[in-house]
Amino acid sequence: MLCSVCSEGVQWVGGTDGWWVHAHMDTPDHEATPVYWQDGDRLMEAIAAAVRAYCRTDANGLIHATAQDIAAVAASVARLLPDA
Ligand SMILES: [Zn+2]
Repeated sequence: MLCSVCSEGVQWVGGTDGWWVHAHMDTPDHEATPVYWQDGDRLMEAIAAAVRAYCRTDANGLIHATAQDIAAVAASVARLLPDA
């Protein structure tokens, strides 16, 4: 998760009443933006297609995957991207 102000990596701590913590600096006024599904987002669509291809889907259309399955899919898609 990245801070929406400075793009540094941040992590949520403290449970439901928690707050964002920067890995490398103390900036309590910075907020991170949660990531939600966006139709038409090319990266999200590519990862979703790879998850459907790689992971088992049950009769209700739900994906059955471990964290390792999802990480493998996300890494394989990320490695197709040009270097930033
Ligand atoms: Zn920040």
